[in-house]
Amino acid sequence: MTFDEISTRDWQAIDSAHHMAPFTDYGAQRQHGARIITRADGHYIFDSDGNRILDGMAGLWCVNVGYGRPELVKAATDQMTKLPYYNNFFKTSNQPVAALSKKLAEITPEGLNNAFFANSGSEANDTIIRMVRHFWALEGKPEKRVIISRDYGYHGSTIMSASMGGMSGMHDQAANEPDFDHIRPPYGFLYQGNQDEAEFAANAASWLEDRIIEIGADRVAAFVAEPVQGAGGVIVPPQGYFAHIQDICRRQDILFVADEVITGFGRTGQWFASQTMDLQPDMMAMAKGLTSGYVPMSAVMVGDRVASRLVSDGGEFYHGFTYSGHPVAAAVALANLELIEREGLIERVREDTAPYLAEALAPLAAHRIVGEVRTFGMLAAIELVQGKDGPVMFEDIGATGVICRDHAISRGLMMRAVRDAMILSPALTYSRADIDETVRIAGQALDATADQLGL
Ligand SMILES: *Cc1c(COP(=O)(O)O)cnc(C)c1O
Repeated sequence: MTFDEISTRDWQAIDSAHHMAPFTDYGAQRQHGARIITRADGHYIFDSDGNRILDGMAGLWCVNVGYGRPELVKAATDQMTKLPYYNNFFKTSNQPVAALSKKLAEITPEGLNNAFFANSGSEANDTIIRMVRHFWALEGKPEKRVIISRDYGYHGSTIMSASMGGMSGMHDQAANEPDFDHIRPPYGFLYQGNQDEAEFAANAASWLEDRIIEIGADRVAAFVAEPVQGAGGVIVPPQGYFAHIQDICRRQDILFVADEVITGFGRTGQWFASQTMDLQPDMMAMAKGLTSGYVPMSAVMVGDRVASRLVSDGGEFYHGFTYSGHPVAAAVALANLELIEREGLIERVREDTAPYLAEALAPLAAHRIVGEVRTFGMLAAIELVQGKDGPVMFEDIGATGVICRDHAISRGLMMRAVRDAMILSPALTYSRADIDETVRIAGQALDATADQLGL
C-alpha cells in the first residue's frame, strides 16, 4: 500500500499513538488527531482530506521562496550524489560550506565575516551563549556571564535557548537556567500609552540600561534581541529603539546580538533586518529562511571583535555538531540564496509586496474586534480585542486567537495565533493576488469570530 491509500483516520490513529509532536497537548491530540499534510506547491499546502490551504505562514516563518522549487531539489540531489556527508571536525571542510560562509559574509552587515553552522535556530543560539561567555573569559572577565533578552522573545527550545527566551510557559517546564535576565519588550500596544513614538523608544530602551546597572555591567555579557519579535506576536519596535539600545550596549561594553532567525533572508525588504534598521550586531543568529526550510540548517555570524579574539588566543573551541556545515544543507542554502537574488525577491518585497500587504491589511483595523494591525516587511499581526474603547483585551488570553485561527483554516487560510494576535509571515514570492485572498479570508475569519462571541 502506498501512503496515499491509507485513510486520514488511520494516519491520525498511527500518528497520535506513536508521534509526540513539538509544542503539542498530547491528550488533546489523541482525541482529535492531527491534520495530515501530504504535499505543497507554490503557496498552498494540501491535506489528506483534499483541502487546499493558502499558507500565510510560509510553513513556520521559513519557506521564503515557496514550495516546489526544482532548483533546490536539484542542488540537494547533485550534492547527495557527489558527497552526501562528511564532517568538518579535525581540519576538514567541504566546498559548499566554504562557499556559503563567504556568501554569508558578503550579504550580512559589515564586520560579520565568519560563520559557524548548526542545524536549528536553537542550536545557533546555544552556540552564541557559549561563544559569548568564552569570549569574555578570554578577555579576562569570566564573571561577565549574564545574558539579557526580552519577555515574549523567542530564541529556541533547547534548555539554554529557552532560558534565554522570554516565554514563561517554557521557563516553567525545566528551562530556566541561571544567568539569564529579561526586560519588557517595546510592545507599544501594551506599554506605549500616550507617549509619542520617540519618547516610547527612549523609554523602552532605558529598561535595558536600568537592568544592566541593577545587575552590574561587570556581570553582563550580552543583550540579545530579535529585530522584530516573531513568535512573541510580531512586535515591531518604535523607530529609534535600537539606536538607543546600541548606544547603551556600547556604553556599558556588552555585546549586542541580533537573532535574525525570522527576519533574515529578505523578509524585511533587505537581506537582514539589521540592514533595514541600521544595526551593527556583534553576532547574529540565522536559520529558517537560510534554506527556505527545505533541509535543516542554521548559522551564527561572528563579528570581527569576537572572531579575532577566538583566532588570536582562543585555543580549541570545544563545540560543534556532527552535522555542522552539512554539505547537502550548504548546497541547498547556496541555491536558495541564488534564487532569492535571481528573482529579485528582496526588491519585490521592499518595493511592492510589503507596502501592498500593509495597505491591504490596514482596513481590518476598523473591524469591531481588532485593536491594532502591525506590519513590517512580510510580517503582520492583527491584534484582537474584546472592545475598542481602551482597548479592552480578552480575559481568557489566547482563547479568541484559537477560534479565529480555526475559522481561517476552515476557510482555506493558514494563519497563526499568538495570544490573541493573528500572525502572518508569507513567502517572499507571495503575489498581490495572494495578499488579496489572504486579507479576504482573514476578514471573514474575524467576522465569524465576532459572531461566535456575540460581539
Ligand atoms: C524559530 C526561532 C528560533 C529557533 O529555531 P529552531 O530551528 O526552531 O530551533 C530561534 N529564534 C527565533 C527568532 C526563531 O523564530
